[in-house]
Amino acid sequence: MQEEFDTAQICINGHAINERAATKLDRNQKFCDKCGAETIMACPHCQAAIRGHHYIHGIVSFSPYTVPPFCCNCGKPFPWTEARLVAAREMIEEIEKLDGNEKIILSKSLDDLIRETPSTPTAIVRFKRLALKAGSVAADGLRSILVDVLSEAVRKQIWPN
Ligand SMILES: [Zn+2]
Ligand SMILES: [Zn+2]
Repeated sequence: MQEEFDTAQICINGHAINERAATKLDRNQKFCDKCGAETIMACPHCQAAIRGHHYIHGIVSFSPYTVPPFCCNCGKPFPWTEARLVAAREMIEEIEKLDGNEKIILSKSLDDLIRETPSTPTAIVRFKRLALKAGSVAADGLRSILVDVLSEAVRKQIWPN
């Protein structure tokens, strides 16, 4: 079976612009029409092309394209993943119902929520416990920041609905 990836064009805030950026050039945009940020087609760290639409020979795929959180060539987080981590950490600093130590634990758990590691299940338990303590406003805020960068498996465990 022959497989191939097109290149994706994504804005630095994580809006997918064109999942066939190497073949459907007319759909490329210099800036994002949703947020006005610049768009990229390569990893800023290693310059590898960002994986776009997945062609599998003989199969027409209708599965929706998902923006990757990490570069598959160098393993570093893409700008949209970094930006969400920074935003989530700023939000955690603002949570009055958590003490300093709890804020540190919650902040650290983010690293194991956005990537699947042996510590991910522990991070999920910590996150749920502290998000509950933080109150619904803060928890909803964290959800809206993080929901797009978490894997479906992690997301469903934290927010089953
Ligand atoms: Zn955008
Ligand atoms: Zn890279």
